[in-house]
Amino acid sequence: MLSNDCLFCKIIEGKIPSSKVYEDDKMLVFKDIEPKAKVHLLAIAKTHFKLLSEADEKGQELVKYMLFKIPEIAKQNGLANGYRLIINQGDDAGQTVFHLHIHILGGETLPW
Ligand code: 5GP
Ligand code: ZN
Repeated sequence: MLSNDCLFCKIIEGKIPSSKVYEDDKMLVFKDIEPKAKVHLLAIAKTHFKLLSEADEKGQELVKYMLFKIPEIAKQNGLANGYRLIINQGDDAGQTVFHLHIHILGGETLPW
């Protein structure tokens, strides 16, 4: 299920443009608009939930699917030398978009 007032749901629906690098029936991967590394991608599931703690059984399956699909997508995007995954959860983590997303960062030696 998608949400009407969610930025990433609008990206899934094509109502807001994005630079897509991978898409299938379960997930979408696109370039972060404000990259924090040479390569900065965002992986999202095609269903709306904010936090891991809010994922139902289908959401949990989708997170697992994304995690194990990401190595393939990373390789296709020049990240054979390694990359970092980040999933911000809530305010203290600085989560700004409330649709669960996995940051994929790489393309250089990361500073920390
Ligand atoms: P968070 O801080 O919630 O973990 O990450 C949200 C990310 O979404 C940020 O890195 C931000 O740059 C990215 N972002 C915000 N709005 C847009 C947008 O409209 N398009 C794209 N491609 N990325 C966005
Ligand atoms: Zn959403």
